[in-house]
Amino acid sequence: MSYTILCHYDEIALKGKNKGMFERALMNMIGIQAKKHAVSNTIETIKKGQGRILIELKDYTPEMEDSWKEAMQCVFGLAYIGIARVITADIEETKKVAVDILKDKTFKSFRVMVKRSDKTFPINSPEVGKIIGSAIYKHHPKKVDLKKAEMTVWIELTGGQAYMYTNKIQCQGGLPVGTQGRVIILMSGGIDSPVSAYYAQKRGLTPIFLHFHSYPYTTDASIEKVKTLTKLAGKYAQHTPLYLAPLADAQKKIMLGSPERYRIILYRRLMMRVANTLARNIKAKAIITGEALGQVASQTLENMTTIEESSFLPILRPLIGFDKKEIIDKAKEIGTFETSILPHDDCCSLFNPKRPELRATVEEVKKIEQELPIDEMMKDILDRTEKWN
Ligand code: ATP
Ligand code: MG
Repeated sequence: MSYTILCHYDEIALKGKNKGMFERALMNMIGIQAKKHAVSNTIETIKKGQGRILIELKDYTPEMEDSWKEAMQCVFGLAYIGIARVITADIEETKKVAVDILKDKTFKSFRVMVKRSDKTFPINSPEVGKIIGSAIYKHHPKKVDLKKAEMTVWIELTGGQAYMYTNKIQCQGGLPVGTQGRVIILMSGGIDSPVSAYYAQKRGLTPIFLHFHSYPYTTDASIEKVKTLTKLAGKYAQHTPLYLAPLADAQKKIMLGSPERYRIILYRRLMMRVANTLARNIKAKAIITGEALGQVASQTLENMTTIEESSFLPILRPLIGFDKKEIIDKAKEIGTFETSILPHDDCCSLFNPKRPELRATVEEVKKIEQELPIDEMMKDILDRTEKWN
């Protein structure tokens, strides 16, 4: 018995001339995630089919389903997969396998759904559906329900073969990581930035993480927490490089040399400058944050504009229109929430003002920055930034 995983995509199908590039990137990420989830040794080949990718397996047992599911749900670009039995494109053989595939399953109603992309198969899809449906009915006389059956037998006729599966596994959609270039993800230890990292990768961006810590005023445990979060939030990519930048000295200078309420904006502008220089060195094309409009005092439109002014590169905010509850729900779904809520000391909350400025203007902030050794602080942070992973 041989198995092939049929990998379906949505948006890539709409790509014109670039479709080949997206398909190659998708195949590449399928291979990478299979390796990460320790199932790559079961692959015979990964190849392009008609409007789908085929992972031909040399070895498959039902115990492997969960690992394959987890692996393929980390591949952005996939809409859904089916782990299918491969059958010679022959109707009698297909009937036999359909009956066999259901033999240990319990269900009250069923349906057969057929997709024929191979028009050389002599019988059209509705006909195949009817023939296979009645063969199943003979052995399993259950109700046929085309709309919401408990059991669906999916049959795909493509490339001169028939493929059959009963478990359609939904994946994440999006575009393969690596197709849209690199970005720097500003990663705090909170709930939001890991979720924004998810959405950045979902649209094909390759993440490079940057975290500012206030060691020795913040603990080693806080840094460990960010490392764990980075691994979780970056699991869709091949690698999860994390840069750790020391902010404490600069924060002290800012505390001493500027009005309290502007502190957060000044830290953030400094973070952006550091992020921009790092981006130039590692060829990243944008900066991603977990900001959502109006969520906290520093995230008013005015403050965002003032922060933005310190950045050459575009600052992308995937969560801009999200409610906090929506972000939390997503964090739970992608498995970052539990780590995000562990106690940690945030570099900014440590040196935070009691009443932050809600609407800092560029002019005000630039005036304050004239009194601060901005370039020197930036250089010092960059010199002492360490790369982990
Ligand atoms: P988060 O849950 O991501 O910490 P937040 O709601 O706490 O977000 P802020 O603390 O205002 O919001 O931070 C806004 C964004 O700024 C974060 O989502 C993150 O992208 C960036 N940021 C904040 N603190 C840091 C830090 N220490 N290192 C790197 N980026 C940071
Ligand atoms: Mg935060």
